[in-house]
Amino acid sequence: MSDKIDVEELFGQNVFTTSKMRERLPKNVYKEVINVIERGGELSKESANVVAHAMKEWAMEMGATHYTHWFQPLTGITAEKHDSFVGSADPDGKMITSFSGKELIKGEPDASSFPSGGLRATFEARGYTTWDITSPAFLKESGAGVTLCIPTAFCSYTGEALDKKTPLLRSMEAVNRQALRIVRLFGNTTATRVNVSVGPEQEYFLVDWDKSMKREDLIFTGRTLFGAMPPKGQEMEDHYFGVIRERVGEFMKDLNTELWKLGVPDKTQHNEVAPGQHELAPIYETANIAVDHNQIIMETMKRVAEHHHMRCLLHEKPFAGVNGSGKHDNWSLCTDDGVNLLDPGDTPNKNVQFLFVLSCILKAVDTHADLLRQSAADVGNDHRLGANEAPPAIISVFLGEQLEDVVRQLIETGVAKSSKRGGKLKTGVSTLPQFEKDATDRNRTSPFAFTGNKFEFRMVGSSDSMASSNTTLNTIVAEAFCEAADILEKADDFDIAVHDLMKEYLTDHQRIIFNGDGYSDAWVKEAARRGLPNIKSTIEAADTLTTKKAIKLFSDFGVYTKTELESRKEIIFENYAKTINIEALTMIDMASKQIIPAVMKYAGRLAMDVNAVRDAGADESAMFDLLSEVTDELNRMKKALDDLKGCEAKAGKITDARKLAYFYKDKVRPAMDALRSPADRLEMLVDRKDWPFPTYADLLFEG
Ligand code: ADP
Ligand code: MG
Repeated sequence: MSDKIDVEELFGQNVFTTSKMRERLPKNVYKEVINVIERGGELSKESANVVAHAMKEWAMEMGATHYTHWFQPLTGITAEKHDSFVGSADPDGKMITSFSGKELIKGEPDASSFPSGGLRATFEARGYTTWDITSPAFLKESGAGVTLCIPTAFCSYTGEALDKKTPLLRSMEAVNRQALRIVRLFGNTTATRVNVSVGPEQEYFLVDWDKSMKREDLIFTGRTLFGAMPPKGQEMEDHYFGVIRERVGEFMKDLNTELWKLGVPDKTQHNEVAPGQHELAPIYETANIAVDHNQIIMETMKRVAEHHHMRCLLHEKPFAGVNGSGKHDNWSLCTDDGVNLLDPGDTPNKNVQFLFVLSCILKAVDTHADLLRQSAADVGNDHRLGANEAPPAIISVFLGEQLEDVVRQLIETGVAKSSKRGGKLKTGVSTLPQFEKDATDRNRTSPFAFTGNKFEFRMVGSSDSMASSNTTLNTIVAEAFCEAADILEKADDFDIAVHDLMKEYLTDHQRIIFNGDGYSDAWVKEAARRGLPNIKSTIEAADTLTTKKAIKLFSDFGVYTKTELESRKEIIFENYAKTINIEALTMIDMASKQIIPAVMKYAGRLAMDVNAVRDAGADESAMFDLLSEVTDELNRMKKALDDLKGCEAKAGKITDARKLAYFYKDKVRPAMDALRSPADRLEMLVDRKDWPFPTYADLLFEG
């Protein structure tokens, strides 16, 4: 069969892990590095030089020729600028490679071409990347050879964050500080840190490379802008967890190998609900590493897919009428002495610390539901949120039967006397083992679900970085912890104060709890009655960033300054307009140069056939009807095309970023839909051989 894969040997092969540092660094330098990783602070200049040298030696032994500061600008993807290790020549002309501590720690990419939302005028182009020592350096193998990638944060000359990592690291600090106050209050004297654990589940589609190359929409926008549904969609529910096709299996095998080499603890793979859709989940890690690894996962998926002659689509909605893709952000808080603050144990009613943490989280999510919604907003995700297969745009929390019951007891009486148990699973087959069921079933329709020992935030889009969602989550929870600790640290009787506060939080914020069907219309009405926000689009969500409440929250905890929030909002508007503009132009191109000419040719042939049949003396009426149907749709399409072009021309005259974004949402998008409808109907009428590009059926079932 296939070659044997040794996971243990492969794992982390391309990562400059702490164990490699232990082997390669002098003891005192190694200790200094570990100390900085665990407790923060800075490496001394001398040690940085030693680390850089060891890193370079290792990387070159592994075949690296270049290094890069790897960072996550506000484009949402990663950026890198490669420098080689080539140094100066010695007197004999022999080249000496070099890589200094300074080069390791600080980089200065020409920052003017990255989005800054007005933070930095282009004449003030200085931006710095700085090493995130807590996320290990790794080697990337690509067409460019082997490159040493150093995970970095990216800031402007004046220290404003120009990336997604900086605020994430700040938010991890904030929640660490506040959570420590809480665990201290509950008597923990040994923990020195509270870490954020994150496990992202990543959904994606695979389609045949050659077919995808015949579609401009997939090439330029990552999603299909035209396409009628095939006779079979996902209604048979036969793809989810179905047997993995051979070609996809080979891709997954290679993907796993590549990810393990990069130290990504990739664990689970399966087919998803839609045809051509799959999912991958790694084991959870510290938030910033998980976020970096998720970027690596996305990049590697694309690269490995290409090797297998497929295109990996990470767009949130590559196909209309078929499920879109998301990313589940599994999130929890764990102390460095091993306590998961979200682990209820077998009897949650007795676990006061857990219940208290839960109450604080409910309060945080209710108070800042708008910000949480914003953190998952993204142009592509607008097709999902609120559509029928995805969590709605309304934030609510699913607790499950057992916890909901405990919460109800707390609200009613201030104490929880019992916890419902799962009971035995009975299958009715005597040879199958009986086992204890979970006390709580799952709810796949909830955007924010408690799943045993973590929360699962399911709104994030498949192509988005995980940084924003976790930054917001960490910060809102830090605030709730801080407000609680301020009260509890002063309380005379801690136990009474805890119970009072818990009862107060749960009572005040119970409206955020919803265990029913989040996809139903009834919930939309019920949520409105409860006063929960339902923010429909990315650009409306952008405004939540600069409310008084948001500015206070983020600046109180040192996560974003007001200026940083304003700049991020500006970038959202710009990015929205640019994305829809590209989509609209692509549609215009495909309609004018491919669909309309193909339909004209088909109609022309049909017209000749109609004449020929009539001349032969037969009844041509059916053919004539068909011809009229085609030409009617063609007329509609031509008109819609002209309208869309008109909209685009108007958009070109708008200079204000916010107005332009709204114009694209309110005018251009509907014009795009109006163009798509007749085109999709024509696809059903025109001879398959004449259709100018591969159809949904070709892409989803014959890939
Ligand atoms: P589920 O079936 O509930 O989705 P899985 O065990 O498949 O759970 O886990 C889904 C993701 O959640 C994985 O990435 C997993 O590592 C992650 N996860 C599990 N426990 C935690 C935790 N305590 N904190 C954060 N993520 C976690
Ligand atoms: Mg899950």
